[in-house]
Amino acid sequence: MTQTTPSAGEAAATPRVVLVTGGNRGIGRTIAEQMIATGHRIAVTSRSGDAPEGALAVAADVTDAESLDQAFTTVEAELGAVEVVVANAGITADNLLMRMTDDEFSSVIDTNLGGAYRTARRAITNMIRAKFGRIVLISSVSGLYGVAGQSNYSSSKAGLVGLARSITREVGSRGITANVVAPGFVRTDMTDELPEKQQKEYLQQIPAKRFAEPDEVAQVVRWIASDEAAYISGAVIPVDGGLGMGH
Ligand code: NDP
Repeated sequence: MTQTTPSAGEAAATPRVVLVTGGNRGIGRTIAEQMIATGHRIAVTSRSGDAPEGALAVAADVTDAESLDQAFTTVEAELGAVEVVVANAGITADNLLMRMTDDEFSSVIDTNLGGAYRTARRAITNMIRAKFGRIVLISSVSGLYGVAGQSNYSSSKAGLVGLARSITREVGSRGITANVVAPGFVRTDMTDELPEKQQKEYLQQIPAKRFAEPDEVAQVVRWIASDEAAYISGAVIPVDGGLGMGH
């Protein structure tokens, strides 16, 4: 395993109030842990109440605008206005197009794309007021590369590119950036669910010949959310071991 978690000594240049959706496990949790280690004030949305040590846990379902609104209100009261938001919460419901149900399609779109849209919308007013903001949308190599059995998931993840680019055109002059981080296959509950045969097939296609560790995605998110990345917006940043090259 590649261990890249920053030491507590690597403090962020400017401590920010950060909200990570789906920060109770997987990639979101690792992003939150790295942000905590670099001195930011972190809140995570968590449906289970679980959160990394040092993070404020707020309950929210990203498909429900009211629960997200309440979560932001709590974070604002406890930590201050959200300056960095990471729309990470996501699900899969894979099926071949000919067998896909409307529910499999709409639930994935509503969580992955709708959830990111609701999260960014709730965050943007305070960011405009502060003349500072970082919006990071966690997409997937699947969004632009396409994966058989993931027409719902790929559509939702490709939609995030349009979302980030439209946000950039709307508020790019206000010190706000909106970027997409597109991981390839990362070792989490989501990929552990894949049959071993399918995991082997995916490995064959990845030039790096291994899956990513959540830390490797979190590092990129941490940087694109930093002051140093102020002039990057509307970008799609792959963290995929070369899988999606050019897509
Ligand atoms: P996990 O399945 O490990 O975690 C998903 C997270 O999303 C959980 O915290 C979950 O909360 C949360 N979540 C799901 N639905 C909702 C909802 N309606 N409201 C609030 N929270 C919700 O996934 P990963 O960590 O692997 O994935 C994180 C992100 O990275 C996703 O957007 C995924 O699409 C993306 N990604 C993952 C890749 C991988 O290989 N793992 C590759 C490319 C992209 P709860 O615990 O309550 O269910």
